[in-house]
Amino acid sequence: MTVTPIKLPVPARRQDPRKQRVDAGKLQQRLRRLTGKAIGDYDMIGAGDRVMVCLSGGKDSYTLLDMLLSLRERAPVDFELVAVHLDQKQPGYPPGVMRDYLAGLGLEHHVIEQDTYQVVKRVVPEGRTMCGLCSRLRRGILYRFAAEHGITRIALGHHRDDIVETLFLNMFFGSKLKGMPPKLLSDDGRHVVIRPLAYCREADIERYAAAREFPIIPCNLCGSQDGLQRVRVKAMLAEWEREQPGRVENVFRALQNVVPSHLADGALFDFAALGTDAAQARHDARAWLMGGEGEPGAS
Ligand code: SF4
Repeated sequence: MTVTPIKLPVPARRQDPRKQRVDAGKLQQRLRRLTGKAIGDYDMIGAGDRVMVCLSGGKDSYTLLDMLLSLRERAPVDFELVAVHLDQKQPGYPPGVMRDYLAGLGLEHHVIEQDTYQVVKRVVPEGRTMCGLCSRLRRGILYRFAAEHGITRIALGHHRDDIVETLFLNMFFGSKLKGMPPKLLSDDGRHVVIRPLAYCREADIERYAAAREFPIIPCNLCGSQDGLQRVRVKAMLAEWEREQPGRVENVFRALQNVVPSHLADGALFDFAALGTDAAQARHDARAWLMGGEGEPGAS
């Protein structure tokens, strides 16, 4: 794949084309570096993998495919990319846009046509958000496709901000400390789902997608709105980020730095054993291994 030079959209007062090219190049490099790092850190893709890239038509999945194509060029191992898009027959869906885009890339691609829109309309009561059922149906179709086409990895376009939002949604409304992992085994154990953009900021992806002029197909053509709760959490995080830049990144890093002994989940840490002989023996052995006090047998 040839990497197309990109230009960033800039405010009118700052239209130095040379600076624009430099900024765009830096942005592309940053996204590529972070995507590569996430893939490496979580061992997302290996030699011989057949990676299905799920393209919704939004900025995130276009960026994901772009990054994977670019990284594959210089990857030390061979892997295949298969782009897959689902035409859910929403009213106003622009036929041909995705097919033309994918045909231009010269890689294996599939556009699956399935009318989930009618199903969702029929089942979900008027006025309620349809996104939950719609996403479940979409996932089922994509997983089935993956099973039938020898796919070994399913790549999704979720980014760092999606992951942090999900963490707060699960805490606020599900009483669970649970996010959206960079790599996941599906519930039925048949599929490995990966999120190579896990380290990328949404704002960067947004600017990149605009610069590359991806032919965006809006998700909400169907007229449904994603849950209000996610919108609120997004606004809350944006407000925090304004107050203290870097806070969202810190929350994300906290997910990589979990200290079970300082939470309260007995399934993760054996609080009951604290203060018992067994716990003391473990503590002494650890201290001895670290070269500190408490050496077994020392008087
Ligand atoms: S906005 Fe419409 S198409 Fe998108 S997930 Fe929700 S119901 Fe599905």
